[in-house]
Amino acid sequence: MNGQVEKKRQLIDDGLRSIWFPFTQMQEFSPEDVLVIAEGKGALLRDVDGRDYIDGVSSLWTNVHGHRKEQIDRAIKEQVDRVAHSTLLGLAHEPAIECAKKLLEIVPKGLTRVFYSESGSTAVEIALKMAFQYQKQAAGGNPGKTRFISFTNAYHGDTLGAVSVGGIDLFHAVYGELLFPTIKAESPYCYRCPFGASYPVCKFDCLRQLEYLLATHASELAALIIEPLVQGAAGILVQPPGYLKRIRELCTQYGVLMIADEVAVGFGKTGKMFACEQEGVTPDIMALGKGLSGGYLPLAATVATEEIYNGFLGRFDEFKTFFHGHTYTGNPLACAAAVANLNIFAEERVVEGLAGKIKRLTQGLQPIAKLGHVGEIRQRGFMVGIELVADKGTKELYPPGARIGNRVILEARKRGLIIRPLGDVIVLMPPLCITNEEIDRLCEITLESIQAVVGD
Ligand SMILES: *Cc1c(COP(=O)(O)O)cnc(C)c1O
Repeated sequence: MNGQVEKKRQLIDDGLRSIWFPFTQMQEFSPEDVLVIAEGKGALLRDVDGRDYIDGVSSLWTNVHGHRKEQIDRAIKEQVDRVAHSTLLGLAHEPAIECAKKLLEIVPKGLTRVFYSESGSTAVEIALKMAFQYQKQAAGGNPGKTRFISFTNAYHGDTLGAVSVGGIDLFHAVYGELLFPTIKAESPYCYRCPFGASYPVCKFDCLRQLEYLLATHASELAALIIEPLVQGAAGILVQPPGYLKRIRELCTQYGVLMIADEVAVGFGKTGKMFACEQEGVTPDIMALGKGLSGGYLPLAATVATEEIYNGFLGRFDEFKTFFHGHTYTGNPLACAAAVANLNIFAEERVVEGLAGKIKRLTQGLQPIAKLGHVGEIRQRGFMVGIELVADKGTKELYPPGARIGNRVILEARKRGLIIRPLGDVIVLMPPLCITNEEIDRLCEITLESIQAVVGD
């Protein structure tokens, strides 16, 4: 390294100590190990030392059409030349109007109103508050419907309402006393079936338990909240076919609103624009985030049916208003990026082109499935979870302190791939723009990296 490069790296290492990183044990943190990203192009990221990496988790599940996508770059630059921010509280602007209109053209039929915010967590908070208040104000009155049913292994964000409906103890248990209690249904984690079904022989006990809970608590339930098709943060837990459709039927049958948290699965990640489409489901409320702006800027939306929306109408002094709104709600730059993102989906027929790539990914995963410590590979579209186990026969886990998942992703990094584990589940979730050659490379590096840590 020449002196200048060394000096720059020294400045960066010093600077890194001023950040408290998310989801990071800072005691084990060393600045030298941090990859500092300088730029990106397509499915690749480049660090400050000029090394290229495949962005194997689409910059935390956000990126869609690639980094520095020309149309999105241009849309943001043009919007900067008009106005960077103005509020939606009492005013409006064209990017928010256009984005809402375009969004309603593609979301499941029956969803008619867009409420903006900035993160997946806020989109979920809004969905919960909407459902709760809707029930309070319902014609005829459902004042007792104040509770929520949610799932084990669920992840809906890190704010307190979202944590209350979460089900990942590692992240959520410590806040127990702060949370509102919810009714928890077992999620279908089929590889480790909570009802002890000898996989894959399934008796649908999870659905039966859910129906029992709905039947027992219907009069006190405002809504059910679910990550449709795939529970992401729990380790890409894929729901069996027909499961989501059945959830919709049960919610309707028992008069419980259905909230679909599509923050992770939306915008093509499962192979269709939205996961709900895969089973012909329209939720009452849908939360969107991550890919909405193409992975460019913080933007989220909570989309509701006309029925929900109507529940908030009345004279001002009836106080049925939805008293909620964040300062940067519907930011013009973020909405301009989202409009460009949605235009690209249409112009480049992105969803139509996914099937081939998904097949390529499935093929690339096959050699990995054969490895001695790969318990299960779960895939739905572009979402992949590779569960590593100490013993394939007994499905025994590695001790958490061994940090097997983390070691695998560090090996991947040496080979030019950025991925991030969820415990000992290796997650792959490339941007939709990834090429077939890059998919092959992604799978090869993942295979080699797992072998390097746990052998064949
Ligand atoms: C990431 C995620 C969230 C939270 O989104 P943030 O933008 O991180 O607040 C909510 N729900 C699901 C399903 C997610 O994957």
